[in-house]
Amino acid sequence: MSLDPRRAALWQAMNLGPEWVRRDVPQPEVPAAVDRASLGSPPLEPLPAGQREVAIAAMGWDELQAAVAGCSACGLCQSRTQTVFGIGSRTAPWMIVGEAPGAEEDARGEPFVGQAGRLLDNMLAAIGRSRQADASQPVFIANVLKCRPPGNRSPQPEEVVACEPFLRRQIELLRPRLLLVMGRFAAQSVLHTDAPISALRGQVHRLRVGGLEVPAVVTYHPAYLLRNLADKAKAWADLCLAMDIEAGAPAQA
Ligand code: URA
Repeated sequence: MSLDPRRAALWQAMNLGPEWVRRDVPQPEVPAAVDRASLGSPPLEPLPAGQREVAIAAMGWDELQAAVAGCSACGLCQSRTQTVFGIGSRTAPWMIVGEAPGAEEDARGEPFVGQAGRLLDNMLAAIGRSRQADASQPVFIANVLKCRPPGNRSPQPEEVVACEPFLRRQIELLRPRLLLVMGRFAAQSVLHTDAPISALRGQVHRLRVGGLEVPAVVTYHPAYLLRNLADKAKAWADLCLAMDIEAGAPAQA
């Protein structure tokens, strides 16, 4: 592969060799025991379907975050420590969408804080982006599911359906110039398809959300990349595609 100088520098910055994980960054500690009463809001009685979607579709950011914190629309509210709403700037031009919180995310209330999250941060840093809300090129990171499936089992279809209005509203409020969808599960959920990730990568999907058309790029999940180092080069190609699309995409009003 031949890279132009900018991409060559980014390639190098991404450490696209055998390993992407920075070892100089202290590993975050997950509290051994969490005082559940201090976290989130207690689950509320869910509104009837239909009414609930209409209510969520009218929410602003703070109201939406509170609704997620108090959600009891599916059984995951019974086992979660806390909900994981998302992190980053609420005016970020990029939105990253993952699958669901894992154990560390459930404990900390923030998406992608485990080993996969550290790889994600390194990937973002390689293209000058960050989850820090005050970064010069911030991103907003969210998941399809806002609650952890117990035992890291796969999300169930009814859980995805119950959570979808939240992600949809997050996209509507953020109005991102680009959606980067990480992993097969998130891609299939967001794009409403059962196509394999191999068929979804390498192209621009157009997601219609409310009155918006948002370009979406699918890439591998960082957890997958940790196990399949050879595919990091393909993930790099996906990031390049995402940058090219954003560069050409009109700003959302
Ligand atoms: N995997 C995800 O898809 N999301 C997270 O927040 C953590 C791990």
